[in-house]
Amino acid sequence: MNHGAGGELMQEFLGKHITSHFPKMKAEVPLDSMDDSAVVDDVVFTIDGHTVKPLFFPGGDIGKISVAGTVNDVSVMGATPIGLACSVIIEEGLDIDIVDKVMDSMGKTAAGCGVPIVTGDTKVVEAGAVDQMVMSTSAIGKRSQYLDSDLAKAAEYRKIDNRWCTDSNVRPGDAIIVSGYVGDHGVALLSFREGYGFDAEVQSDVAPLNGMIAEGLKVGGIVAMKDPTRGGLANTLNEWCSKSHIGMEINYSDIPLRDAVVNGCDLLGIDPLSIGNEGKAVIGVVPEMAEEVVKALRRTPEGKNAAIIGYATEGPERVILKTEIGGRRILEAPAGDPVPRIC
Ligand code: MG
Repeated sequence: MNHGAGGELMQEFLGKHITSHFPKMKAEVPLDSMDDSAVVDDVVFTIDGHTVKPLFFPGGDIGKISVAGTVNDVSVMGATPIGLACSVIIEEGLDIDIVDKVMDSMGKTAAGCGVPIVTGDTKVVEAGAVDQMVMSTSAIGKRSQYLDSDLAKAAEYRKIDNRWCTDSNVRPGDAIIVSGYVGDHGVALLSFREGYGFDAEVQSDVAPLNGMIAEGLKVGGIVAMKDPTRGGLANTLNEWCSKSHIGMEINYSDIPLRDAVVNGCDLLGIDPLSIGNEGKAVIGVVPEMAEEVVKALRRTPEGKNAAIIGYATEGPERVILKTEIGGRRILEAPAGDPVPRIC
């Protein structure tokens, strides 16, 4: 299970047993960069599998996740998603009403964020071959109309050497923004599934972020973006450190965290910074533009709790978390997700 959990064990597994078998191909953002999407001939391209259990949970369902997660992986590259593809594998005997409900949610989420579902595939397999329903959703996107002016704004303050908002594009001094409360999805889902009851206070944050991200790009100065899904904020920040060859100093008290999420995680013995989010973006921005970008994000419904949580520093490649009582500790990437099958 840890080989699929989004942490360091999964990175190692992918490198040794998956991508090592594939031919090396030239692409502007290739497979090896392990970014949110690839960029091939100026087309932004991604795919995502969805195995969330249960199919319906507080704040969302597998249909909403499948659209939002895929739209977000394209959007955080600095691209505009233009079309979705979805493959659905259904277990024999699954109630047709459930199929209708999931597809209705998918359709509404796609309509809400303005990205059409343009192609797909449906299979039914014998009972037990999958657990109710699994989905795979892919998307293509094109360069955002705001990305050139966004990067030009960043280039007024420092050298920019990448045409996209990739994980390798953060430099010492850049501000790190998170677009809102962290840990909601993981706690809501785990609580609902296991019957702990925190889900009465915490709902999944699952949401498409293409609209919010466009508002940030319009302001300018954004150089990197990522959706902190499996492995959470801790994994995203550590990935940026190793791919951008930087360090980071993050202020714990500046990270938006709900009391119910902190208390729930305390009780369950898990770290809210290591569990998955489905409607958040981490954004690297030149420091001169950080306040303006936060203001723009806060004007959108998905970004209304956006905050600057820290800054990139010169190496070593690690995340230093400054605690509320003035201590400093290293925030490690989780070895594996403590909460399986949440997306
Ligand atoms: Mg992603």
